[in-house]
Amino acid sequence: MRKQIAAANWKMNLSFQEGEKLLDGILGANIRLAPDQLTIFAVPFPYLLMARSEVGEEKNYYVAAQNCYHKKSGAFTGEVSVEILHSIGVTYCIVGHSERRQYFDESNQVLAEKVNLCLDNFITPIFCCGEALSIREADKQNDFVATQLQESLFHLPAEKITRVIIAYEPIWAIGTGKTASTAQAQEMHAYLRSILAGQYGQKIADGISILYGGSVKASNAKELFGCPDVDGGLVGGASLVATEFIEIIKGLKK
Ligand code: PEP
Repeated sequence: MRKQIAAANWKMNLSFQEGEKLLDGILGANIRLAPDQLTIFAVPFPYLLMARSEVGEEKNYYVAAQNCYHKKSGAFTGEVSVEILHSIGVTYCIVGHSERRQYFDESNQVLAEKVNLCLDNFITPIFCCGEALSIREADKQNDFVATQLQESLFHLPAEKITRVIIAYEPIWAIGTGKTASTAQAQEMHAYLRSILAGQYGQKIADGISILYGGSVKASNAKELFGCPDVDGGLVGGASLVATEFIEIIKGLKK
């Protein structure tokens, strides 16, 4: 069975001390994850080692970077490479969050390079896709996300695509308090799986985790994660509150 995943995206929030306290609170709840359940904390770069040590040997709890640079190494002051992330034991990285696409002009082509570097350095990319409100209103969301996958992922051979996690995050639902309905989420996730199946075959498509992101909270997580093609969530705001995120983890399918 594919992995069911609760991924926290702290973005540019919390002091170091607040981050430590939050992790203590969540890990202190001692939620036993099933073998096919994962919890991942995507924290700011300077907190990665602290988060790794907090998570320790806790089974199925991991740490992610929120971004990486699209070049291997070199004179790129201020950037962080995938090799650097790997060297400190980071095993997951968010790639192509809509905020990076919007504020830092990250194109599908640049994101393809990031995906390649992650996979070549033993880091699982959590690849984000999703449409803006105007695209949804024009009923063009399927074509839009299909292009994002085609241009950033579909160059990968089958053995590599199986190592990618996809997060569908409609931009109109991120940080807005507006959540996609379960019907909208399931419809898009089933569509994404169908295009993965078209490219790689049904068996491979069935093994790829597709997370939903966009105002997931304790009160709606279980219902969203209950959709057959929704394999957990990428969570922003609600991941900053221990009691909220604990319930979100508990909402994962068993
Ligand atoms: C996100 O940052 O990926 C996200 C989905 O944010 P929020 O949960 O706050 O909508």
